[in-house]
Amino acid sequence: MSTETLDKAKANLPVRGFLNIEDIKIPQGEELKQAILDLKKEKNAVILAHYYQPADIQDIADFLGDSLQLARQAKDTDADMIAFCGVHFMAEAAKILNPTKKVVLPDTQAGCSLADGCSGEGLRKMREQYPDALIATYINCNAETKAESDIIVTSSNAETIIEALPKDRPIIFAPDKNLGKYLSKKTGRDMILWDGSCIVHEAFSMERIAQQLAENPDAKLIAHPESETPVLDLAHFIGSTSALLNFVEKDDSQKFIVATEEGILHEMKKRAPQKELIPALVFDESCNCSECFYMKRNTMEKLYLCMKYELPEILIDEELRLKALKPIEAMLEMSKTIK
Ligand code: SF4
Repeated sequence: MSTETLDKAKANLPVRGFLNIEDIKIPQGEELKQAILDLKKEKNAVILAHYYQPADIQDIADFLGDSLQLARQAKDTDADMIAFCGVHFMAEAAKILNPTKKVVLPDTQAGCSLADGCSGEGLRKMREQYPDALIATYINCNAETKAESDIIVTSSNAETIIEALPKDRPIIFAPDKNLGKYLSKKTGRDMILWDGSCIVHEAFSMERIAQQLAENPDAKLIAHPESETPVLDLAHFIGSTSALLNFVEKDDSQKFIVATEEGILHEMKKRAPQKELIPALVFDESCNCSECFYMKRNTMEKLYLCMKYELPEILIDEELRLKALKPIEAMLEMSKTIK
């Protein structure tokens, strides 16, 4: 590994002042992998990773999953430390659900365009504007935003939950307008939408994907509902991260054009090695935009450092945690039957 990469990994550690950064040695290659496994044992830690993480992190994780599956794992783990390989709001949700555990995140800058664009204050204002409405918020948001919500949803359970909400109450849906539009169409419920989007899913180009389909007439387009409506209109199947994985595994087709974050292809290839997977194209031909820049901030080196020094740690004010917990627990209760 280059000195520059090592320096970047070290720079993430908020330990300047009581540790000499220059003295920190990060193992390399197989030794790095072994060192992480040794730390896991030594600290009774569990490594939870999202499907969008870099492949080497996915491979070393104890549990790989989507937001709903990871939230459940975080809630039920009896490990002392949760090394959460995902983005900040996910690690924060783990701490909300299991506050006695130490939760560490390899890189605190691993954010999310959806979470960053929707504040608790913004939702409070919307509630003032629509006092009768129930606020259903996608899990991709920070603790303050969760605390202002009536219920949290993930892409796996959103449809079930929205359908179960009282029909005589309007629904405010935040922060992803594309998922909101999709859910509104599926459930027939009118929704007041927050104007947010995912920088990865909104980058897919309908024109370029239509061209891919024309060039691959035997392929099926599968898309995550965070994608924009014109892309979803072309799709043969729309589903959450887990639903897309299951579809590729079980469907008879041998070729798929995949419109979601590219990291998922690693697990898809493992589950369906004989099938051909083509990443859907984005608007900008010069950009790797279907990779989430935030998710890819985590590296094996940063995972090693966060486990070794137990930093950066996720900490939440207890009053805020309890407020944010309520809508998450409501979600878990309403989605018990969903895998
Ligand atoms: S893929 Fe989109 S929604 Fe997911 S973490 Fe990245 S920016 Fe957020």
